[in-house]
Amino acid sequence: MQKNDLMDKILSLCKRRGFIFQSSEIYGGLNGAWDYGPMGVELKRNVKNAWWKAVVHSREDMVGLDAAILMHPKTWEASGHAANFADILVECKNCHNRFRQDHLKGKCPTCGAKEFTEGKAFNLMFKTQVGPVADEKNICYLRPETAQGIFVNFGNILDTTHRKLPFGIAQIGKSFRNEVTTSNSIFRTREFEQMEIEYFTHPNDAEECHKKWIEERFNWYLNLGIRKENLQLRVHGADELAHYAKGCSDIEYHFPFGWSELEGIANRADFDLKQHAQFSGKDLQYQDPITNEKFYPFVIEPSGGCDRATLAFLVDAYHEEVVNDQTRAVLRLSKELAPIKVAVLPLLKKNTDIVGLAKKIKKDLQKNLSCVYDDTAAIGKLYRRQDEVGTFYCVTVDVESLTDKKVTVRDRDTMQQERIGIDQLKQYLSEKFIL
Ligand code: ATP
Repeated sequence: MQKNDLMDKILSLCKRRGFIFQSSEIYGGLNGAWDYGPMGVELKRNVKNAWWKAVVHSREDMVGLDAAILMHPKTWEASGHAANFADILVECKNCHNRFRQDHLKGKCPTCGAKEFTEGKAFNLMFKTQVGPVADEKNICYLRPETAQGIFVNFGNILDTTHRKLPFGIAQIGKSFRNEVTTSNSIFRTREFEQMEIEYFTHPNDAEECHKKWIEERFNWYLNLGIRKENLQLRVHGADELAHYAKGCSDIEYHFPFGWSELEGIANRADFDLKQHAQFSGKDLQYQDPITNEKFYPFVIEPSGGCDRATLAFLVDAYHEEVVNDQTRAVLRLSKELAPIKVAVLPLLKKNTDIVGLAKKIKKDLQKNLSCVYDDTAAIGKLYRRQDEVGTFYCVTVDVESLTDKKVTVRDRDTMQQERIGIDQLKQYLSEKFIL
């Protein structure tokens, strides 16, 4: 399959099956913003839950945070975003479209012309005002990253949790960047969700910690089903690093449009805490309770995009195969990520006994698993629909079910069918999903 065809097919499935819609589509859409439909919201929530489980609940050295999107404007002076968070913008002299200079390959992607205006810095932060008075004093920004909410709360978290180094703070939340150009659906958008960790450590241990986090984060994607050949690590060259950074590696995924960043893992040294200490006048040093040594911890920052991860999981899961001369599209999402675990389907929607039993089974299973009931088409079509959204098992209730008290359980990947007693069903599925 051609790469572009593949992306088109996946995006068409995302629309058709309710994963992703263009924002405010009935008005022609808004560039760079997307809505997650009934399937998409479940998938994205599963991605976030898997991340939180891996980096907070399964560890002893991590806590969570949910900081506000709006922050004191001084935050962005201290972080450097007010002065430096800019892309260089150029305009094509022929068609007047604008582009990021670093994304151009010599000629205009729209009209092919080769002449551009001088590059101009364009700050990517969205500006807004706090309160009713439109005044310079009331200018505020939508955060362009969640990280700063963590740094400004470093003192609060130390005081309230009495943590000892090394420890980390994790946060998931919306970020906003007025990107010059947006592309590839949810890959590059102006409103997106980040999953970020700031891990604080003694400067002597930072390099080792950095290595561990790179490994940990790389394996997270593999454990959730991404194929090894589609994931790579790219170590930043010295010319790409911020002046304070000691190192950075990107985890990249092989999208149909090329290898692209999913997550960056940086060793930011003590830059952020020192900056906030200087701008706020607060002492943000750490004091070792045993040695009494006082110092600014170094920070390791694994910073990923939830939307990009979701897109990578979708792309990697998409498969087509020919079954009985027909193409079957199936999302082979992992058990943890699949939006629906079980669909309960009545074979005959006009038979009230079958429908009643199917609904009862669904009601029973939904206490532990995400389930749907569907009777809006013939069984073959219902199976195809569930395959396309990655539903793990279809449970079909037929006429025999009323007498033999058994149902047919169909496996998404093998399409094998098994007859299981209704009273065994919960146990059977809970073993499959390790509930
Ligand atoms: P890029 O080079 O692709 O613009 P970046 O290096 O500026 O990304 P970071 O500032 O390191 O990105 O942000 C951390 C993560 O947040 C990225 O790895 C990505 O997954 C996500 N992210 C950043 N910008 C966007 C965006 N415009 N849309 C969707 N996700 C984004």
